[in-house]
Amino acid sequence: MFRIIAKWYAKRQYIWRQEVDAATNELNAGLSSKLSTEKRALIDQLYKEADDIDKRIEEFSKMETIGFWQCENGHEEHLSTAFAGVELEISRTCSTCEQPMKHTRRDLMTGQEQYESDKERKAAEDVADNKRAQAKAEEENADGSDKTAKYFRDLAKNNRHLADKIRKL
Ligand SMILES: [Zn+2]
Repeated sequence: MFRIIAKWYAKRQYIWRQEVDAATNELNAGLSSKLSTEKRALIDQLYKEADDIDKRIEEFSKMETIGFWQCENGHEEHLSTAFAGVELEISRTCSTCEQPMKHTRRDLMTGQEQYESDKERKAAEDVADNKRAQAKAEEENADGSDKTAKYFRDLAKNNRHLADKIRKL
């Protein structure tokens, strides 16, 4: 009689342990999945920031070629189209902060100014490159988290499978 109870108890214990392990493994899988989702959001953000920088570099290069106005507070204004091609506009006041503006055009720059401008452009390109490199590294992390999640999910499946087998004994 006692052996039957012992066997029944052992079976119950075994099934219980497998179910607890399955639940624990599923929790771990869930954590890894969440981590992966967070990393993928970060990756999207990094790529977007890099693209925005690229866009800004391109925009600025165009403005620099055509010419534009800039105040010391960094506000930028396009050339007036009223003077299309004719350089009549010789001074301008910033419409945002009322500071005097400086006209910038690449072919009117000194060698030093061109050098400085190229240096700034290069620095911005480096920031964009770094963001892409960081995104790439995070992609590997996210892939790792996905693999870990799958590993735990497989473990949980095994636990459930074992519990079912014992139940049928
Ligand atoms: Zn201004």
